[in-house]
Amino acid sequence: MALISPDSLERVKQAVDIVEVVSAHTDLRRQGARMVGLCPFHDERTPSFSVDPQEKLYHCFGCGVGGDAIKFVEEKEGLGFAEAVELLADRYGVELEREREDPQAEAKRQRRRRLEQLLDRAAAYYANYLWDSKEGGKAREYLEGRGLGEEVLRAFGVGFAPSAWDKILVAGQRAGFEVGELRAVGLAQKGRSGGEYDRFRARIMFPIRDRRGRTLGFGGRAMRSDQGAKYVNTAETDFFHKSTILYGVDLAKTAIAKAARAVVVEGYTDVLALHQAGIEEAVGVMGTAITGEQVATLSGMVEEVVLALDADSAGQEAMLRAQRVAAGRRMRLRVAAMPAGEDPAEMMAEPGGAERFRGLVEAALELPEFQVGLVLDGADASSPVARDRALDEVAPVLAGLGESASRDDLVRRVAERLDLDPSMVMGRVVAARPASGGEGAPERGRRQTAPQQPRRVAELTSRERRERALLAMCVALPDEGAEYLQRLTDAHLSATGTRAAGWLRKHPDDPASNLPHDDDELAGLLTELVMLARNEPASRESMELNFLLLEQRRLEDELAAAGERGDYERRAALSRERAELVERIAHAQRVEG
Ligand SMILES: [Zn+2]
Repeated sequence: MALISPDSLERVKQAVDIVEVVSAHTDLRRQGARMVGLCPFHDERTPSFSVDPQEKLYHCFGCGVGGDAIKFVEEKEGLGFAEAVELLADRYGVELEREREDPQAEAKRQRRRRLEQLLDRAAAYYANYLWDSKEGGKAREYLEGRGLGEEVLRAFGVGFAPSAWDKILVAGQRAGFEVGELRAVGLAQKGRSGGEYDRFRARIMFPIRDRRGRTLGFGGRAMRSDQGAKYVNTAETDFFHKSTILYGVDLAKTAIAKAARAVVVEGYTDVLALHQAGIEEAVGVMGTAITGEQVATLSGMVEEVVLALDADSAGQEAMLRAQRVAAGRRMRLRVAAMPAGEDPAEMMAEPGGAERFRGLVEAALELPEFQVGLVLDGADASSPVARDRALDEVAPVLAGLGESASRDDLVRRVAERLDLDPSMVMGRVVAARPASGGEGAPERGRRQTAPQQPRRVAELTSRERRERALLAMCVALPDEGAEYLQRLTDAHLSATGTRAAGWLRKHPDDPASNLPHDDDELAGLLTELVMLARNEPASRESMELNFLLLEQRRLEDELAAAGERGDYERRAALSRERAELVERIAHAQRVEG
């Protein structure tokens, strides 16, 4: 395929009037060097959407989206990159020149496109087989028996895999795909005798799609008890990384944005049943655990996540893990206490089930409260040893809440339940280190080192605010920036921050002139950094202070890890390091004035 030449792409970017492009979708008014208005990507009443006419960038401080005019057109008109460039070139009278692509890159891109087509065709094949084949009848009956109607099944593309050994293999090859390609996307596998056969047979097929609705892989549910595993998923492939996937996110994303909340459930049929009942902000994690990557994905979309996972012990452990992962992110995790032995799909099949589920979601407890309740429920208040153990478990959770009314409430509850003096419980809480390694007590009396920004940025953790402030100053002062980008490691930064730092190292002079097109979160953060860099003061002194504060957080993490390992020698060494660092921070704060 002929590519648009970098030269003519540059000319399009120069010619574009981003204010004009954006103004077609929202009214903008001038505010200093920027134009501001209501965000055309999320629902809001006070403007947090900014356009920088000079840098030709847009960014929403409310929902975090951002990019250049091309990106804006891609998103608003639903076009691909090349199409968006063509549209703008046409509108601003730029003649596009084409050139041949690097053959290796072209081959790679073509292979990827072919594999995407293969997965989409397979999904269509399975769906047709469910609705049109005799063999699919049993599966249709089963799904109907679970209360799932045709409309929702079709929306999610649910299908059925034939029980024969090689239907997909044969159909795929007939459509011009190679066995190697079928294997690359996890549809075929090698048998013991060396022959190939279909990986999914006689299973109800749930296509797993990304945010844009592209099929990445499948989950297959067994129809008979002699079929081995009840669920078989696509194995890890270049496309399919189970730990990052949120089932149903393509259909849930609009509802999630509208409700400003995501509801997380375990299984495919849970997600389907909830969507059918109008609870469309539901996504699935395919298992009892929510992973760090899933929490990260969600934290880019919403501020509140309600976990409606099974209330058995596996589910509870998953929730504790989720909290550790959510630590340091601006996400509020709540837990809906699901009745034991009943999953959302079963609940939806009962009369009034949807209302009951909605009630549970509304009444969901903050995760710390839920955790404390869990410990107290299992505690034997008559045994001093058991009381002490319970106290050990709840103290770090409560310490994580910082000084707050909810902490004091919980302390009273703990004292009452364990028959202890409240001041004694409080003593243990104050001495404990926060469980999450999270933000803990609000920082009082400490200098505000990050610029004040509208809503969303105010909800960032202090670590993220510092990270952003420092990275923005790296953009504003590239010479000093190079030095700090050298010193910053992944251990200092959030996942997006790490990617942004990597990007800035590679593009020190013009971080926003060729924004990444495959990582929306990164593009959003980069536009934010460039805008902050143009509008906020920067100095070496405040860079140093922000760096030291990030260093302190890194050290705290390492200290906690050493403590958990029981490595007291390392802990002692780290404590000394921390003491030195605290001195340096105090000094830097005086210097920064
Ligand atoms: Zn927005």
